[in-house]
Amino acid sequence: MAGDLSGKKPGTKIVGAGRRKEWTGQVVNPPVWRASTHLYASEADRKAGGSQPKDGKFYYGRQGAPTQWALAEALTQLEPGAAGTMLYPSGVAAINSALLSVLKPGDVLLISDNSYEPSRIMAMGFLKRWGVEHRFFDSLDIAAYEALFCERTKAVWLESPGSLTMEVCDVPELTRIARERGAVSLIDNTWASAIGFPALERGCDISIMSLTKHVGGHSDLMMGAASAGERYYRRLRQTSQQMGNVVSPDDAALALRGLRTMEIRLERGVQSARVIATWLRDRPEVAAVHCPVLEGDAGYALWSRDFTGGCGLFSFTLADATPESRAALVDNLKLFGIGYSWGGYESLALPYDAAPIRDAMPVPGAEAGGGDNAGAAMSIRLSIGLEDPEDLIADLQTGFAAMKAI
Ligand SMILES: *Cc1c(COP(=O)(O)O)cnc(C)c1O
Repeated sequence: MAGDLSGKKPGTKIVGAGRRKEWTGQVVNPPVWRASTHLYASEADRKAGGSQPKDGKFYYGRQGAPTQWALAEALTQLEPGAAGTMLYPSGVAAINSALLSVLKPGDVLLISDNSYEPSRIMAMGFLKRWGVEHRFFDSLDIAAYEALFCERTKAVWLESPGSLTMEVCDVPELTRIARERGAVSLIDNTWASAIGFPALERGCDISIMSLTKHVGGHSDLMMGAASAGERYYRRLRQTSQQMGNVVSPDDAALALRGLRTMEIRLERGVQSARVIATWLRDRPEVAAVHCPVLEGDAGYALWSRDFTGGCGLFSFTLADATPESRAALVDNLKLFGIGYSWGGYESLALPYDAAPIRDAMPVPGAEAGGGDNAGAAMSIRLSIGLEDPEDLIADLQTGFAAMKAI
């Protein structure tokens, strides 16, 4: 129904993407095709299908059915430069499968120090055991990063903004250096999504997203995706099929439903995050706010240059707080849930300390800890949902009052 979406604005693409008539039939959304076995019309028909699964052709349930294909195609159409997208049972599965599709024993992986913790653990655990070495790098120190390359450096792992601490790095420059040295660039693009950061156009070879966050958008499904141009899409597909990654048609239908409203949810997240981060910045209890969509933030210049959007996820560091006073703050929030994940319609707060999961990068706000906690950044990450920001501010105000009463 959608016709040619190339050249259309993201809001138009997100509505039409993946909705092929042959998949949707007479309704708006592709039905949930529960299928392991695809039946052929005849033996001749089966033989004509060939011995290798092809995109968009029935073969066997592991290669999916129209519900999953519609989601994969929608994500491909949203990522400028992508030839295809593979779906995975979680964001972590997408990260690991993408890395395994470009690395082999003996290779060296450069990994941004502020990457999502399970990505770091994959490098330090499975990949190391498999014979892949890794070096953590400071994504804000380009000279130090460049000096880490050696003959065996085959891949660079990026995430921007970084997990928890929200540093924005110069992706076009980091990927240019990687390309020059013959290394593949992969990026965890979960924060901005392709709507907010066209990763392949900014120099990355493979763009990975946890669909659990913004695409699902309703905190009720787990899924991941990796998109790439022709060359790396083929590698992703081969590896994924060998590893047996598959997602359920029910979850694919939920992810497609979430995707349709993602752009307006992201926009609203940015607007509310700006209001709340601005308020937090003026609070005496707050030592630093880490919010790249806010003018004045250390990452704002690169964010404005390279990004076309963002989301409502940011963090802040408390001044003179202790683990107990920080706990009193979050325990007294009524509108923010305490929990992992983000990108749902509801707000979440997560206390964190990034110091134990950094090797090469300083922790912003680390000088703020007071008393026994000198040198420890007492920080909280907020995922701003669709509630009214005024109500969320009032909720935080209650939390601060409880914190001061300790
Ligand atoms: C949550 C998250 C993931 C992992 O996704 P899951 O679907 O939870 O496995 C990967 N990267 C980032 C940045 C995340 O926040």
